[in-house]
Amino acid sequence: MFDTREKLKIAVQKSGRLSEKSLGLLKECGINLPGGNGKLRTEAENFPVEVLFLRDDDIPQYVEQGVADVGILGENEVLEKKKNVAAVRKLGFAGCRMSLAIPKDEEYTGISFFEGKRIATSYPAILDDFFRRHGVGVQIEEIGGSVEIAPSIGLADAVFDIVSTGSTLLTNGLKAVETVLKSEAVLIANRKLTKEKLDILDKLLFRIKAVKNASENKYITLNAPLSAVPAITALLPGMKSPTIVPLAEEGWCGIHSVVKEDKFWDIIDRIQELGAEGILVIPIEKMIV
Ligand code: ATP
Ligand code: ZN
Repeated sequence: MFDTREKLKIAVQKSGRLSEKSLGLLKECGINLPGGNGKLRTEAENFPVEVLFLRDDDIPQYVEQGVADVGILGENEVLEKKKNVAAVRKLGFAGCRMSLAIPKDEEYTGISFFEGKRIATSYPAILDDFFRRHGVGVQIEEIGGSVEIAPSIGLADAVFDIVSTGSTLLTNGLKAVETVLKSEAVLIANRKLTKEKLDILDKLLFRIKAVKNASENKYITLNAPLSAVPAITALLPGMKSPTIVPLAEEGWCGIHSVVKEDKFWDIIDRIQELGAEGILVIPIEKMIV
């Protein structure tokens, strides 16, 4: 199927919040990667890719330089590093928010609150962009980690960091007051891939799309009185149109279709009102549209 001289080099996070989901996605795309803990690189057995395990902070630079051809990492890290790479596709996992937080007893009066304040963060570039856009002058203190303790030790007046539940902020006497960025995992690519590598990337993206479609949709089968078929098929358009099969019982048929996960409960309620029975909802393994 492929000229196997060239392999697409994919950088993923070595160990951290993105690692498992990144490898899980490649696996769902049918790419078998021989395991082995502590390995820094591995080649797929059945697809022309090689996976490099790196710190997420280093991925944008390596992709820009072509050490890796593509990379999977948080959008926040891509924006922070400002490297010349192509953002190819959002991947729908590792969602998080980056927020500004202040001591919880202070009254927040809007973005101008930060004028002249010192803000501790590991993401100085994103923060600088944000305040420039809003025309607010701040002093940014770049620190590597444990940003939340900065106000209590007198290093800063506020912090800017990834917030998941807010509980770390709370235990440090802080509250989130402004969301600066919403991030999720993305696939980035080097801007000068060879034709051969672009072909491999296209195949990979095709598979990623099939995996994503499958996770966002369910296969549904149900029985319905023939009189209800037009109304039910209008609610269940499916991929082209629903499949309708006769049932042994006179006046009834089976309907097979695909529904979007997020519309699912609403549709179930409505088709039940139309007389549908024996509804089965089945996960889809892959969906090629
Ligand atoms: P590395 O050792 O590779 O530099 P790291 O400590 O920078 O790892 P992780 O904590 O593993 O990174 O987070 C990686 C990415 O996961 C973040 O940049 C962000 O995009 C995403 N993420 C999602 N939810 C969270 C969260 N609750 N806290 C931190 N990061 C999160
Ligand atoms: Zn990192």
